[in-house]
Amino acid sequence: MNPGPDSLLIRGAHVLTLDDADHEWPNADIVIEDGRIAAVGPTAGAAWPRPFARTIEGRGLLAMPGLINAHFHSPGNLMKGALPGYPLEIFMLHEVPPLAPTGSAGRLAYVRTMIGALEMLRRGVTAVHDDAYHVPVASVESIDAIMQAYADAGIRATVAIDQPNIVEYEKYPYLAELLPEAERRAMDAAPRQSTAELLALYGHLIARWHGAENGRLAAAVSCSAPQRVTDDYFAGLSALSKRHDLPFNIHILETKLQRVLGREKFGKSLVRHVHDLGFLDERMMVIHAIWIDDADIALLAAARCTVAHNPVCNLRLGSGVMPYGKLRAAGVPICLGSDEMNTDDSVNLWFVAKTAALLHTLATPDYRAWPQPAEILAALTRGGARAMRRTDSLGRLAVGCHADLALLDLDTVSFTPLNDLRRQLVHCEDGSSVRATIVAGRVVYEQGRVTAVDETALRAEMRELMAAGRTQQQSAAREAARLEPYYRAMVLKAAAQDVGMNRWLS
Ligand SMILES: [Zn+2]
Repeated sequence: MNPGPDSLLIRGAHVLTLDDADHEWPNADIVIEDGRIAAVGPTAGAAWPRPFARTIEGRGLLAMPGLINAHFHSPGNLMKGALPGYPLEIFMLHEVPPLAPTGSAGRLAYVRTMIGALEMLRRGVTAVHDDAYHVPVASVESIDAIMQAYADAGIRATVAIDQPNIVEYEKYPYLAELLPEAERRAMDAAPRQSTAELLALYGHLIARWHGAENGRLAAAVSCSAPQRVTDDYFAGLSALSKRHDLPFNIHILETKLQRVLGREKFGKSLVRHVHDLGFLDERMMVIHAIWIDDADIALLAAARCTVAHNPVCNLRLGSGVMPYGKLRAAGVPICLGSDEMNTDDSVNLWFVAKTAALLHTLATPDYRAWPQPAEILAALTRGGARAMRRTDSLGRLAVGCHADLALLDLDTVSFTPLNDLRRQLVHCEDGSSVRATIVAGRVVYEQGRVTAVDETALRAEMRELMAAGRTQQQSAAREAARLEPYYRAMVLKAAAQDVGMNRWLS
């Protein structure tokens, strides 16, 4: 009898399914056929009627669902460690100066995306939800470069086009008055894409890539944030999300300044603003949700949104602490993300998990309400699956689900001695115990290397591309430094306002 198509047996591993019944076996098999889990349990391999194309001996290994990075911006992959500590608005100015001569060729976008994908695969991340922005404007070439990189790397990816389309100073409170006339006029003239242009690019993304690679690649929509797009584009994106059942990426109330902006520009909270426009729904993944109040939480819960929590990024930018306990108590599903490489400086979801588990102990002395390892693991897996509209097929090891797994060595410092597996996954592991990563039944990382890519050559090419772009980077840095005093005045003015809440320690 011939082996099943691309069949793989993981034999005799410690299996943590994170499924509905939270099955865990110290010695069990996982049968994979055609990219999906065909059987799992103590005798699954022996009972299987067909031979296997490949068998992995699981003794000493933990098999668990691959981690899902629920929020990420791959275009930041070039900027690991590049910026000092800045609040979001100053950080964004330096990341993408609005008047700087920028532009990324297709090859750069490809290599940049690939570098991040490889780092994730090495640490057992099997899926990423990428809110990819394009500088200065999105194009078919830049979209295809990002998607092709994910296709080639072997990771599962759901990707949006994050493209603000209003004038820079209109995204913020006070900035229009703070800027000199000449700077305002220059911002008016900066390239922006129309609703029709951007929706046409979404048409391309969906037609060419949604469902590609046997369903491994998918499209999402993104407005970046409600204050960064025109109302007609926002409406177009909401309609697109509903028509194709696509996740909708939206950053809401990441900073205190955005709380002030909502009041100044719309006379209400930005959550309420999106709700009143009729766009708040269960497809929305609300990113950050830090400066939200109780009424906002009730709206998010009623609309069945998912919230993406990015605690390392929030600390890096001094954004504040998300009211995790209140969101959980309201029944809002939570997923975890690294956010981008210049706000986490690594794409290490294990650090994100540990930070999430620790940070919210500061919210209440009632230790019974502190995040537990099981819920952090659920946020890392099923939470991300929900945000990607993949609840039925991702985030757990169960028959019929996509075979996306991480295999971890239990004979490492993280798990020796082994006292409590879940707690040690959250509090001890840093990704270094990952021995293999499997996506859609394919082993994409093993024996210390990503199988589909020559990583050494890729890193060398990355260094060359960075060196070639040095003049452009220096010019962008000068542009950001010139504008920074106006942005600083804006940030400090917003920080001094009373918004009826505090999400900082002070
Ligand atoms: Zn983000």
